[in-house]
This record gives sequence, C-alpha cells and structure tokens, in this order.
Amino acid sequence: MAKLNENYLNIKQSYLFSEIAKRVNDFCDANPDKKVIRLGIGDVTLPLGSLVIDALHKAVDEMSKAETFKGYGPEQGYDFLRNSIKEYYKRNGVEVDLDEIFVSDGAKSDTGNITDMFSTDNVVLVPDPVYPVYVDTNIMNGRKIIYMDGTAENGFLPMPDDSVKADIIYLCSPNNPTGAVYNKEQLKAWVDYANKNDAIILFDSAYECFVAEPGLPRSIFSIEGAKTCCVEFCSLSKTAGFTGTRCGYTVVPKAIVKKTSDGRELSLNHMWNRRQTTKFNGVPYIIQRGAAAVFTEEGMDEAKAMINTYRKNAKLISDTMDELGVKYTGGINSPYIWFECPFGMYSWDFFDKMLNEIQVVGTLGAGFGKNGDNYFRLTSFNNYENTKEAMERFKTLFK
Ligand SMILES: *Cc1c(COP(=O)(O)O)cnc(C)c1O
Repeated sequence: MAKLNENYLNIKQSYLFSEIAKRVNDFCDANPDKKVIRLGIGDVTLPLGSLVIDALHKAVDEMSKAETFKGYGPEQGYDFLRNSIKEYYKRNGVEVDLDEIFVSDGAKSDTGNITDMFSTDNVVLVPDPVYPVYVDTNIMNGRKIIYMDGTAENGFLPMPDDSVKADIIYLCSPNNPTGAVYNKEQLKAWVDYANKNDAIILFDSAYECFVAEPGLPRSIFSIEGAKTCCVEFCSLSKTAGFTGTRCGYTVVPKAIVKKTSDGRELSLNHMWNRRQTTKFNGVPYIIQRGAAAVFTEEGMDEAKAMINTYRKNAKLISDTMDELGVKYTGGINSPYIWFECPFGMYSWDFFDKMLNEIQVVGTLGAGFGKNGDNYFRLTSFNNYENTKEAMERFKTLFK
C-alpha cells in the first residue's frame, strides 16, 4: 500500500486568510456603495521597470532565432547573472564566490527546499511571529520546531539564549511581518551562537533592499564568522517587483562542512548543488536576462525608485501612528508596519472594527503566530492616494 506523508496532517490549516477574504467579500456585497481600501496586500503592485521589460523583450527575440536560441541552461543560473549578483554583493562590501550563488525561482522555494539538506532529527528554532513557510515546510518533514518569542519588549527581535539548544535557526531581517531589523551586534550574537553550537542559520533577506538606515546589515555575510554557519536567501520579488516574474538567489558558502555520524565530511554547498542539479532545471533564460537588468546601475536606480514609492506610503502610515501615539515596528526599513491593536482589542475584533467603521483592510497578527494575537500588519503596497485616505479614516477611530 502506498503510504502518504502523514506529517501533512500536522500542518495547521490556514483558515485565516480565507476568512479575511470572506469577511471582506460579505461586507462589499452588503455595502456596494462603500469603498474598501486594502492595506493588507503582501504583494508588490508597481509594474516591472522599463529596463527589465527591454531585457525581457530582447531575450524573447533571442529565443526566436536558431543562432541565439537557448535550451537547458545551467541549473545554478547563467554566469552573466551570477556575476551580477556577485558584483552586487561586492558593492555592499561582501565577498561571495560565483559557485556559492544559486539562482532560483524565488526565496519561497529555496527556504522550503533547503530542508532536504538536513536530517529530520534537527531541532529547528523559529521566531514567533514568523513567515509561515519556515514552520510548515519543517512540519512536512516531521522536524521538531521550537519557538522564540518576538515581543514588544525585545522589539520583535528575539536574541539567542544559551540555554536553548537549536540546530537550525531561521531569521528574517527586515522581518515579515514585523518590519523589525537586526543590527550588526545582534546578528553577530546569532552568528556566534550558531558557530558555538555547530548550528546553521537560514537567513531570509528578501527585504534587504528596504533597509534605509545606514549601518544596518543587508546581508548576514557582512557579519564576521557568518560564512561557516549561514545560508542567505534573496529575491528580486520585493527588490524589483518580480513576485509574478519569479527570480531569486541563494548563497550557500563552501565553508559550511559538517561531519557525518561515521566521521566523513559533507559540504552543504556540494549537497545543494547536487540537489538543484537533480531536482531543478534552472530559471528561464528570459527571466534571468530580466533579472540581470536589475543589477545594472540604471536597473538599480529603477528598482530604488519603486522602493521609494512604497517607502513614501510606509512613511504616511508610520507618521499617522506617531501622531496617534500608537506604538509600532517597521515602516522605515520595511514595507510593513506592525502595531499593537489599539483599545486593547484582539486582532479579529480590530479587523472587524476597521472593516465596518472605516473600510480599511489589514492583516491580523494572529496569522503569523501566537505573539501576533493582539497585533496588526499594514502594508505600503497600495498607492499613495489610497494609503493617505486610509490613514485619514484611521485617525477617525481615535476621535
Ligand atoms: C515575499 C517574501 C519572500 C520572497 O519570496 P519569493 O518566493 O522570492 O517571491 C521571501 N521571504 C519572505 C519573508 C517574504 O515575505
């Protein structure tokens, strides 16, 4: 008899997002005259930059001629793109080797697929609140997960605790959903913990391009010692609007080498290369050309202009919170603003209040873990006019 992976029974069903959609739809049906503003969007909304579009068109044309047609490409990504990524790291003061860079169809797949590299008896440490992919992919493999609390007291930046024994640690900075960012000293403490405990940090830096304050790390590899214990996941999704176009990259340092139970050595970089060449046939050539355009100087300017548009919206939201005296994290170095629900409300009650009284939709903190129960996330991915109107309406809740 074929036996199915019963670990799937242990994944929490995500009723939350469908319930949000249902409540919004019901409201709209009952109130067709009311304009609902969505600040729950977890996706970019601006179109791709013109240089990306040009590069995509050019690559499509190349595919139409026998001389320039491309079939299977290297599973790890074309060298033209890996070189651009290497140079991008270099401009940010980080040296990585070409064969440490793996181009992929996005950070979600890689953060999930990396679990293939690890034995199921590892203890996995994840922050709460957290991006749900880390938790669910490990539950699918039957791994034990322990949580570390992100709270107002620690600024939603949990720090290592020497009494906790973890083998694999997920960190996401700037964070989704809280927008909080670790500074260098804090990340150094994590890297030291990982090296001391022979653990591995899986560092999700999907939002690195939102880091605005100087001195804040955009890559875990800007921290001394990270090359022996960290894997970094990056994506063009938020950097350049590639959520639907799909391109990311993962850096797996060659210095991560672990002893097997019988004393042999395994290199994580070799394993990941083997995994990708076996189970993945690379990102489409056309998409990689579009991605390479992002890493040119002009391409980066275009990407920055997009980020700045979102930043302006984030500032509108955070300025409103400041004015109202609502405490929040995020906004400055992140498209997300995370705040405690006002009036001592639970997030579902606050969600209903926002929807019914001011027709603004956000995301319940409860969707990201128990520490989010009284919290709420607004995003800067709507347009300026809508964000402004939403904030004017938001203020009326406090009158
Ligand atoms: C959006 C996001 C990503 C990017 O995922 P892609 O698969 O590259 O689109 C990764 N991690 C987090 C936490 C995100 O919010």
